[in-house]
Amino acid sequence: MNSPLLTPNSQAFLTYLEEWLLKLPVASLQEMAGNPAAMALLAVDVTVGFCSQGALASPRVGAIVDPIVRLMNLAHKHGVKHYILPQDTHEEDAVEFGAYPPHCIRGSEESETVPEIKALPFYNQMTVLPKNSIDSRYNTGLGEWLAQHPEVDTFIVTGDCTDLCVYQLAMFLRIEANAYQRKRRVIVPADCVDTYDRPVGAAQKEGGFPHDGNLMHAIFLYHMALNGIEVVEQIQE
Ligand SMILES: [Zn+2]
Repeated sequence: MNSPLLTPNSQAFLTYLEEWLLKLPVASLQEMAGNPAAMALLAVDVTVGFCSQGALASPRVGAIVDPIVRLMNLAHKHGVKHYILPQDTHEEDAVEFGAYPPHCIRGSEESETVPEIKALPFYNQMTVLPKNSIDSRYNTGLGEWLAQHPEVDTFIVTGDCTDLCVYQLAMFLRIEANAYQRKRRVIVPADCVDTYDRPVGAAQKEGGFPHDGNLMHAIFLYHMALNGIEVVEQIQE
């Protein structure tokens, strides 16, 4: 197969992408949450196993915890009642471990919500949805939750990783609404999502796939925006 020459041929697009990221708008929760009962805030995989310890934990992902907690507090202040936490809670012999090293096994500390979210006074009102794949729609109860809350039409998606579970979740919410002609907003604040970085050198030495955190984060944010998901820099008061 002839490989396309990405470095020279994609330069104009990469420059465009850098500028696009710098120009993302800031959204206002007050404007968005006119009817707080119609809003849900989702935080996917904001767990110990991705934020602080274990084979897949990453400092980049750990750094989104504070902005997410800030956004949760802001949403709570504005009367938002629905907080959904789809979280890896893997079987010990998870099929997914064929692609990723074992992580977030059921009953382990890695599968727990990060302590900063657990410490919120309204944590006991949050809905944790255990999942066993990178897609929050399968075998989690998310579909049932959506069916039981037809009044919810605005979804803020946060968490990790931008190109994996965040992407799958935000795209599912967008595409489902498109397919069934439902009015729905799906919003991704870029400061509340991120992905891991694995340099080419490390992957060549240890095996497995490299993963350019900055590039994957940017391209998948862009791809979500391309599909009608509202990607914003952050959500403020
Ligand atoms: Zn997993």
